[in-house]
Amino acid sequence: MVSRITTFAFEGVTANPVDVQVQLSSGQSNFAIVGLADKAVAESRERVGAAFSSLGLSLPPKRIVVNLAPADLPKEGSHYDLAIALALLQAIEVIPNGALEDLAAIGELSLDGKIAVIPGALPASMAAVGLGKTLICPESCGPEAAWSGGQVLGAKSLMALISHFKGNQQIPSSKAGELKADVNVPDLKDVKGQEGAKRALEIAAAGGHNLIMMGPPGSGKSMLAQRLAGILPSLSAHELLEVSQIQSIAGTLEKGQLSRIRPFRSPHHSASMAALVGGGIKARPGEVSLAHHGVLFLDELPEFSSQVLDSLRQPLESGEAVISRANRHVKYPSRFQLIAAANPCKCGGGPSESMCRRKPACKADYIGRVSGPFLDRMDIFIDVPAVTAMDLTLPAPTEGSKEVAGRVLRARLLQEKRYENSSHSRKLNVDADTSAIDQFCTPEQSGVDLLMQAAEKLGLSARGYHRVLKVSRTIADLDGTEQIARVHVAEALNYRFRPITASKVSNDILKA
Ligand SMILES: [Zn+2]
Repeated sequence: MVSRITTFAFEGVTANPVDVQVQLSSGQSNFAIVGLADKAVAESRERVGAAFSSLGLSLPPKRIVVNLAPADLPKEGSHYDLAIALALLQAIEVIPNGALEDLAAIGELSLDGKIAVIPGALPASMAAVGLGKTLICPESCGPEAAWSGGQVLGAKSLMALISHFKGNQQIPSSKAGELKADVNVPDLKDVKGQEGAKRALEIAAAGGHNLIMMGPPGSGKSMLAQRLAGILPSLSAHELLEVSQIQSIAGTLEKGQLSRIRPFRSPHHSASMAALVGGGIKARPGEVSLAHHGVLFLDELPEFSSQVLDSLRQPLESGEAVISRANRHVKYPSRFQLIAAANPCKCGGGPSESMCRRKPACKADYIGRVSGPFLDRMDIFIDVPAVTAMDLTLPAPTEGSKEVAGRVLRARLLQEKRYENSSHSRKLNVDADTSAIDQFCTPEQSGVDLLMQAAEKLGLSARGYHRVLKVSRTIADLDGTEQIARVHVAEALNYRFRPITASKVSNDILKA
């Protein structure tokens, strides 16, 4: 007779069902796990054996075969322990026949029979709901798993589960964790001065545009970036589940608390490609995926290795990070908004740009470390000047994140309506494709003329040209006007990257 229970193999954020089958037969005493299992799964034998001994149970002196089906699906990780142990307990008649029928289980066993925390409880639980099964998981993963809305039993130990199945002591169903309160989100009110940068941040937030800030250290670039999450609308229910599943796989959901604040990730410039895009031993999600539906902030952009930056281009375009494994690809969603900051030059230690003794070569060399194609993917370029003593004596701004968030939300609602029939997951100007740009982002004639003139003088690429149009659309949306006016195009052009030589030219055009 075969004893069986369901568990899951993770492929990105997808939990694929795996049937754990245990068969005992007479023959030489042996314990084998088959079905494309990796080393961590194979070591399950030792952990299950030790956990059984701790309960005073011994493995039967028989041929034990554990089959993980389907066999062609790769199995990674230690979370198979619990399902294997439960199927085995049924095979040796410690828990009654038929008890495991409507169950799925994930969890790692300690040598003393306790059930240890594993990542991925939320996606596993959602998959269990799809199968109409109750999920057994580690007790501390229960609040996270219960967000699926399904039935979840969070168990402390193998002993507790045996008592549960024997009917001695029932394990209560887990309740979903709480929503994290949004108390610690930094407010724009804390930033004095920098009105130009705040305006650019608002436009970036409204249309989902990528933004790069250049300015000396201490001018408040990071401070501004950190305040972006506070002016973006909260995650929708659908986005919340997507974001939380990635956090679950990464093992960063504490106490099962989900947050509707958009993620803000700020990896250090020494981060490796695997840390940023994902990968490593267990094909974990990288920063680009942890920033899904939120913000990826790259401070000191030119200090990142060019190879690492180039690896961001694909997720930036497709909204997906693809990690290559030995014989397959793992995909994680990575639809994020990129915010970057850079000092004006390598020596950038001075309070103002005029301190540089090697300009303009110093500045050009420094930003030149970032490849042209990468910079071409940025929509808004702004200078963030040094904070002066005058700025510090200014009264606190009357307007804070709340007011700005209101305008951002209004602009986003216009976009949602405009793109309601588009296939993109986000209904934002930044995602508008060529036909949507033709249809929705054509300015009034004088705006078109201005753009044509500027495109020629600035040598705008086709991509750059489209980006100006999309930013113009967002500026008009913030104004609440359907028609994109010349003034909207002029402001958008002002945010285009101006290499030092072109800077004067563009200013001349704008004044004309
Ligand atoms: Zn310099």
